[in-house]
Amino acid sequence: MSNATRLLIVGPPGAGKGTQATMLAERYGVPAISTGDIFRANITGGTPLGLQVQEIINAGELVPDELTDTIVADRIAQDDATPGFLLDGYPRNVSQVQALDAELAKSGASLDAVVLLEADTDEVVARLLKRAEEQGRADDTEEVIRHRQTVYTEQTAPLIELFEERGILVRVDGLGGIDEVAERISAALTAKIGR
Ligand code: AMP
Repeated sequence: MSNATRLLIVGPPGAGKGTQATMLAERYGVPAISTGDIFRANITGGTPLGLQVQEIINAGELVPDELTDTIVADRIAQDDATPGFLLDGYPRNVSQVQALDAELAKSGASLDAVVLLEADTDEVVARLLKRAEEQGRADDTEEVIRHRQTVYTEQTAPLIELFEERGILVRVDGLGGIDEVAERISAALTAKIGR
């Protein structure tokens, strides 16, 4: 258990978290767990969960905490997460941090590091509008994109200070090419957690 690597990646919507999460998870041999991907897969599959969260997600609001917390707790309890995990898009507010802390504490575990991918709002909105054209995500309209930035600023950004106080925050400039940013994250994380 103590050898496991438990990481989070946070940053504004459109900062490139998903891409970096996949690369980073591979490097540490842990699963990248994206709550957004889990919800989208359920929406696509037309599952009861998908039907329950569809409208919330399309409006750019947060799915209720209890539901999200349970999904993550179940996911990180699966065998492939024994070596640890990299959570992308969770926790997104203080209540979810508390739920995750409590879940990890059950097995005497805690987070090792939180990567903050820093990016300018105008830059990320431009990126998301481009992704909307390419992928046609239902929550990628300009109005919803702006709303998701507001939700991030109001609910998720305050977590940065909290993780900083714990001494586990790793700030990385998210602007640049994919490989360049990946290098920066790797170097900063290694400096922080020694692996
Ligand atoms: P993402 O792919 O991380 O941008 O997530 C897409 C959408 O899924 C968000 O705008 C929320 O509606 C929902 N979502 C993802 N993660 C969470 C979470 N931790 N808590 C609540 N809602 C979430």
